[in-house]
Amino acid sequence: MSDTIKIARTVHDLRKITSKWRDRDRTIGLVPTMGALHAGHISLVKLAGKKADRTVVSIFVNPTQFAPSEDLSRYPRDEEGDVQKLEAAGVDLVWMPNVDEMYPEGCSTTVRAGSASRDLEGTFRPHHFDGVATVCAKLFNQVTPDIAIFGEKDYQQLAVLRQMVRDLDMPLKLIGAPTQRDRDGLALSSRNAYLSEAERKIAPALYAAISALAADVAAGAEIEPRVAKARLEITSAGFTKVDYVETRDAETLAPPSAATGRPLRVLAACWLGKTRLIDNVAV
Ligand code: AMP
Repeated sequence: MSDTIKIARTVHDLRKITSKWRDRDRTIGLVPTMGALHAGHISLVKLAGKKADRTVVSIFVNPTQFAPSEDLSRYPRDEEGDVQKLEAAGVDLVWMPNVDEMYPEGCSTTVRAGSASRDLEGTFRPHHFDGVATVCAKLFNQVTPDIAIFGEKDYQQLAVLRQMVRDLDMPLKLIGAPTQRDRDGLALSSRNAYLSEAERKIAPALYAAISALAADVAAGAEIEPRVAKARLEITSAGFTKVDYVETRDAETLAPPSAATGRPLRVLAACWLGKTRLIDNVAV
């Protein structure tokens, strides 16, 4: 670990630091984030510290993964608070490019995310994962990490990125880390900051419903009627709209074929007023 945290805002400055580490055979762990950091992000940072000699956290609110109707302009930002938290967590380097540094004039090459991106989030946010895949490919080329850590909180994102790394032979290892939750079960998320006091009280019903669904499916319940019950529980609790509640193959995210014995995952996305929450649990 180095003495004080370093901040790079240009690819040139970033490479000056990482190339020195490489020359000394230090391994590099990357944790990509969009900032507004909470204990979920910090758990990934701590894991990176255990798995690599140097830890880099990127903070970049990536415009290409937001649709025009989405919350890009109101996405929470707290650069100073984030750097303080990362310094306290022992991070070596914060990579904070601005939009022009990430996408200079004329930048037009993109990554098209693979089959894992097609439905679930892909149905409701059609270009989201192409934006995620493109920015992560850029981050991997910029930072050249040995490992990159992503949260299971964004389970489909992890599946899409694993597929990209495999399909495009990217020389790094992805590690998935468990979802950190508040005491009442709500998954920590930067977007929880949008919830009113009343909505915040309703929010844990999402985790409660998908956990109960997962437990019942594990005990042999028939999937479709049990999913319908979970949807009802979520809306009865006060959620305004259910985008999806699905039980899928945990690796491919394809609909499960009967009795294969493969691991399953329950994934859900629901609206609470103007805020869209996602969550998932293992069956
Ligand atoms: P974000 O800043 O929302 O793009 O998230 C950055 C990384 O933190 C992603 O890999 C997320 O999956 C992960 N993350 C977000 N929330 C949590 C959480 N509650 N527990 C664990 N990881 C999380």
